[in-house]
Amino acid sequence: MADAESWLAISSTPSLHNSTREKVINLDHGDPTMYERFWRQMGDKTTITIPGWQSMSYLSDVSKICWFLEPEFATEVVRLHRVVGNAVTEGRHIVVGTGSSQLILAALYALSSPHAAEPISVVSAAPYYSSYPSMADYQKSGLYQWAGDAENFDKEGPYIELVTSPNNPDGYRRKSMVNRSQGLLIHDLAYYWPQYTPISSPSDHDLTLFTASKSTGHAGMRIGWALVKDKEVAKKMTKFIELNTIGVSKDSQLRAAKVLKAVSESCEQENHQNGESFFKYSYNLMAQRWKQLREVVDAGDMFTLPQFSPAFCTFFGKETEPQPAFMWLKCVDVEDCETFLRGHKILTRSGRQFGASPKYVRISMLDTDETFIELIERLSAIQELE
Ligand code: PMP
Repeated sequence: MADAESWLAISSTPSLHNSTREKVINLDHGDPTMYERFWRQMGDKTTITIPGWQSMSYLSDVSKICWFLEPEFATEVVRLHRVVGNAVTEGRHIVVGTGSSQLILAALYALSSPHAAEPISVVSAAPYYSSYPSMADYQKSGLYQWAGDAENFDKEGPYIELVTSPNNPDGYRRKSMVNRSQGLLIHDLAYYWPQYTPISSPSDHDLTLFTASKSTGHAGMRIGWALVKDKEVAKKMTKFIELNTIGVSKDSQLRAAKVLKAVSESCEQENHQNGESFFKYSYNLMAQRWKQLREVVDAGDMFTLPQFSPAFCTFFGKETEPQPAFMWLKCVDVEDCETFLRGHKILTRSGRQFGASPKYVRISMLDTDETFIELIERLSAIQELE
């Protein structure tokens, strides 16, 4: 993945480890290290011990379409969606994946037809998640092909649209953009969690993807899940994963079950034990970061940020503000914002990679406190300097 690759490239560059003042800060990727403090505070609540004899078989539950889905993990997925109210799970098959990345590929495979005369077009509205084009085209599949911005798509016939809501990179809520009936939709709801956006109603689509990476911050666990209405689509996705990795690590699924359980319990017990739920904790942290960011951006004329309207969040039972996992920053008078910020030792991802103007960059809001504070200080210094 581009995220991990660029991170590795930076960490192995010796010149970047000078004094802290000179350090390059890399916010090109969306590594969710911000959540580490919460999980440290939880102590042993999510520690698991797996004896050597356990989880040895390839199989988990052969009565399910997704035969490598661990029942404990499936139970906790259903429970968490019920607690949060962000997805309908009734009448859905759960397919587990090695991150939602694997599920995106599985879904492209499952929704395309081996008998079609030409590859089915894959579209998403710009600015779209920068990995979609390469995911679709990397293997030059004869089944599907990247066809760009959904808003400019006018080819007749079936197509697959990736609907990312809230969107990566700009944080806006989205619906399908191609207004036609032959679309097969993949709803990528990686960020439809209360710390990022008001939960308005349970999502209720044909094929919806979620991931632990952005919900609980456990990106390294590599666990995502799909909620799939159609049995045949769920079967094909399962087949893809079977061919790809013969299932998904049971160790990771068991760990994920424990983590999701702890999140649900933190929500259910919040009022009784006076503790803070995971979402309240992460919502407050994001709120603080967005406040600091808006203050520094508003203090000068160099940059602008998207504006969002508050809405009622059924999870918190009050109006909340969207506070995306990434800032979609525009350089007002600079043509190439990514190069400009690189000159100030801030690594970001150019708008170009999202099918948008190079005046924009995407910057992660999910890094450690230390890196985030450094970012705010540097943006502030840039505003004073220019
Ligand atoms: N979809 C979107 C919109 C994302 O932002 C990401 C992570 N950057 C993914 C999918 C993939 O996440 P993972 O494979 O870690 O579940």
